[in-house]
Amino acid sequence: MKAQSANTTTQSESSHQNDFIRQIIAENVKTNKNDGKVVTRFPPEPNGYLHIGHAKSICLNFGIAAEHEGGQCYLRFDDTNPSKESLEYVESIKADVRWLGYDWGDRLRHSSDYFEKLYEYAIALIKMNKAYVCSLTTEEIRADRGTSRKLGKNSPYRERSIEENLDLFARMRAGEFAEGEHVLRAKIDMASPNIHNRDPIIYRIIKIAHQITGDKWCIYPMYDFTHCLSDAIEGITHSLCTLEFEDHRPLYDWILDTLKTPSHPQQIEFARLSLNYTVTSKRKLQELVENQLVSGWDDPRMPTLVGMRRRGYTPEAIRDFCDCIGVTKNDTHIEMGVLENCIRNDLNPKTARVMGVLKPLRVVIENYPQDKVEELEAPYHPNDASMGSRKVPFSRVLYIEQDDFLEAAPKKFFRLAPGREVRLRYAYFITCQAVIKDENGEIIELRCTYDPETRGGITPPDGRKVKGTLHWVSEPHAITAEIRLYDRLFNKPNPGAGGADFKAALNPNSMEVLTMSKVEGSLANAKPGERYQFERQGYFCVDHVESSEEALVFNRIVTLRDSWAKFEKKS
Ligand code: ATP
Ligand code: MG
Repeated sequence: MKAQSANTTTQSESSHQNDFIRQIIAENVKTNKNDGKVVTRFPPEPNGYLHIGHAKSICLNFGIAAEHEGGQCYLRFDDTNPSKESLEYVESIKADVRWLGYDWGDRLRHSSDYFEKLYEYAIALIKMNKAYVCSLTTEEIRADRGTSRKLGKNSPYRERSIEENLDLFARMRAGEFAEGEHVLRAKIDMASPNIHNRDPIIYRIIKIAHQITGDKWCIYPMYDFTHCLSDAIEGITHSLCTLEFEDHRPLYDWILDTLKTPSHPQQIEFARLSLNYTVTSKRKLQELVENQLVSGWDDPRMPTLVGMRRRGYTPEAIRDFCDCIGVTKNDTHIEMGVLENCIRNDLNPKTARVMGVLKPLRVVIENYPQDKVEELEAPYHPNDASMGSRKVPFSRVLYIEQDDFLEAAPKKFFRLAPGREVRLRYAYFITCQAVIKDENGEIIELRCTYDPETRGGITPPDGRKVKGTLHWVSEPHAITAEIRLYDRLFNKPNPGAGGADFKAALNPNSMEVLTMSKVEGSLANAKPGERYQFERQGYFCVDHVESSEEALVFNRIVTLRDSWAKFEKKS
């Protein structure tokens, strides 16, 4: 039996992109800047699980490194805020990067590896009279910082002597002060048109144990100070980040120029990925988890990599998606359909076709012998004979899809209706003779006859044609399975737009659980993570968290066609 396993991944093939970042880097290599080296990094903060937006950054950074001879990419945890970070997140991020198909080799780093060096750099700034200990409260600092139209105000502590600053900073480190009592600020320019350069805070006191350094530190460097120096320490050549850091670039450069670091990486910004009908923000995703609006970070509806993986997405499809959306400086919202097409394109050639009836309707073939069972040949893939075939049993009692029968069917309905004939895939033509209902008028069973001359679904000698072909399973041979159908997690393209609560846009119908679905017996040994196409229904993946041999659970990865595109056109 051939099935798509969740764990088959390879290093990304080289990208087809030639975006503006790749062009800059290629030019730098050509002119032998940085001795022709290319060193990048992916710098997540371990304060949540990675989402599809991070995949864009991972593919970009690891992808570019792989495209250059000797190119390297670091995985660096930006772990400077112990109040929000944890080892659970660190481990999940490593697993996600690996799953996507990337390998950081011996280049795993943490900003916390550099705490001692960063401290020395801070001392160096103080000694140059380029940093000072400020004893205003955070609120006062914020108020004095001014706005884009109002200049900032110098701190009354700005002219503290170097000696006093060194003494206070050492005592901050020694734990003599409470949180918020003092901070260390860079001494740049309170009148700078760039608000980030108005004496930014570079160290603060946080009395919380760090997941790696424990109680060793009670002062922690701020992101802007840590990031550029970590880049410089690692010899990063190109520091790729999202557009919101464009305004921070002068500060990035100021710190490295002032400290005259041996290496000065080039920061280049690109647009974040935003995907319609979902959110790409760890904070918002965490809110969904904490409020139990989803079953967890790995809920198959979540745009997290763990969620998408559980749903059945392949790393190949996600890499292809990142390739396909490209890298630009313009913020754009990508249609969910683009992502869905990538997974369809990936699964279509390599996924076995089987039959599963989501909402079963019982069919009795009246002219088929009671105890007879025929094994009918059914290929796993219409265009790939190498995938082999299996035998599907045909018997007197079958299930078809409820949606494939209409009692009062219009002319153009090519499925089953009273008196009408259809083909059962790989099996026979059947004709509906009678509809059996319960006392409430609900249809419980169809009575049909079959034509023995159509075995294998072929046209009979009289040349009779039918338009509809239905999938089906044999009742005594079928397995009952739970099938979970997913829809968009939000019913607005841009949840939370215009200041609304993004949670108000949650789609109440984002999951439909079918507990009485019937799938063909060949799936008895389906393994967690395996993917199948249920003919006419879509691609499905055996849930690796809740499925078991006794009770199979399938997640619908994606439908065969984009039904939302049609819906949106109509409305
Ligand atoms: P979030 O708002 O979800 O917490 P973040 O930027 O704070 O995102 P980090 O852990 O700091 O998360 O991100 C690690 C890297 O991933 C950064 O370089 C960041 O620019 C990049 N990144 C995060 N979100 C996106 C996105 N939506 N598109 C592209 N890159 C992203
Ligand atoms: Mg962040």
